[in-house]
Amino acid sequence: MEEFKRNCPCCNVELTYKSKAAMTRANKVNGHCRKCGISRGKKLAKENKTKKIPIHILRLHDLYDELSGQV
Ligand SMILES: [Zn+2]
Repeated sequence: MEEFKRNCPCCNVELTYKSKAAMTRANKVNGHCRKCGISRGKKLAKENKTKKIPIHILRLHDLYDELSGQV
């Protein structure tokens, strides 16, 4: 069976894909190997947590404003 290969852009380890479509998709999203992908995902999640206020909290603030306006 043919294998499709590319290198991780982070640590340059060789990655093999079972289909050309999978390799093309990984190229498009600049996919990393599993190890680098996991640490990268964690970092992104942490950044989102500190920079963005979750929508449900914003809505709670709106609700409090409405309630205090009535009282
Ligand atoms: Zn890597």
